[in-house]
Amino acid sequence: MAKVICITNQKGGVGKTTTAVNLGYFLAKDKFKTLLIDFDPQGNATSGLGLEKQDLKQTMVEVMLGEAELESIIQVTKYKNFAVAPTMPQLADAEVQLTKMDNKFTRLRTAIESVAQQYDYIIIDSPPSLSLLTVNAMIAADYLLLPVQTEFYALEGVAQLLDSMTLVKKAMNPKLKLLGVLATMYDKRTSLSVQVLAEVKKYFKDKVFETTIPRNVRVAEAPSHGVPVGSYDKFSKGAKAYKNLTREVERRTGKK
Ligand code: ATP
Ligand code: MG
Repeated sequence: MAKVICITNQKGGVGKTTTAVNLGYFLAKDKFKTLLIDFDPQGNATSGLGLEKQDLKQTMVEVMLGEAELESIIQVTKYKNFAVAPTMPQLADAEVQLTKMDNKFTRLRTAIESVAQQYDYIIIDSPPSLSLLTVNAMIAADYLLLPVQTEFYALEGVAQLLDSMTLVKKAMNPKLKLLGVLATMYDKRTSLSVQVLAEVKKYFKDKVFETTIPRNVRVAEAPSHGVPVGSYDKFSKGAKAYKNLTREVERRTGKK
C-alpha cells in the first residue's frame, strides 16, 4: 500500500512544488514506485516535469468532477518508476463545483484508494491556500510534509495550518501525521536564515528534517527545462540536498 505524503503550506512560494518534484524523482530513483499528483491549479509540477498542457486531454480536473478515473489520467515520465497525475488551471473552477457535490471532502481520497496498491509512494503537491482542495489532500494523506522558507515570516500561518490538520485528524483522518518540517532556500551565510532555522527548530523540535535545502540556482533553473534538479545537474548542492531528504523520508515512513 502506498504511503501518501501531502506537501503543504498555505504560504506561497516556499518550495512545495520543488520539493514534490524532487522528492518524487529521488524516491523513484531509489526504485520506489512513485506517483506525483499535481493538485494545484497553477500546474507547476505538471510543467516542471515537462508535460505540455495542450497535450493533456484529461487531468485531475476530470478526476475531481467524477468524469475520469485517476488511473486513466496518469502519465509516465521519462524517469523509471515515476508517474504523474497532471492538472490544468480549470482545477480552480472544479473546486467551486466541488463545493456543491456529494463527498466533497473525500473525493481525492477515494480516487487515491483506487490506485494505492500500485505504488510505494504517492506525493500530493497542494496549492498555497487552506482551501477545499487542500482539505481533500489532507484527508487523503498519511503524512504532511511542511516546507518552510527560511525567511522572515517563515512561521506565519503555520498555527492555522496545524489547526486544520488537527480538525482533519479528528473528523476524517485519524492516521494523519506530520512527517516533518523542511527548511528550504536556506543560506547558511546569512544570519537571518540561521535565526529563522533556529526558531523553526524551537517550534517543531525533532520534527525538523536534518537536511536543509540550500538556495541554489540550479534548483530554480531546472523547472524551465521541464526536469527535476537531480536530472538537470545531479552534482549541484540542491540535488544532493533533495537526495538526502529522500533518505530521511524513507526512514521516517519505515521504508528503509
Ligand atoms: P506556490 O505556493 O506558488 O505553489 P511553491 O511553494 O510550490 O509555490 P516553488 O514553486 O517550489 O514554491 O518555489 C518558488 C520559487 O522558488 C520557484 O521559482 C522555485 O524555482 C524557486 N526555488 C524553490 N526552491 C529553491 C531553492 N532551493 N533554491 C533556489 N530557488 C528555489
Ligand atoms: Mg507550487
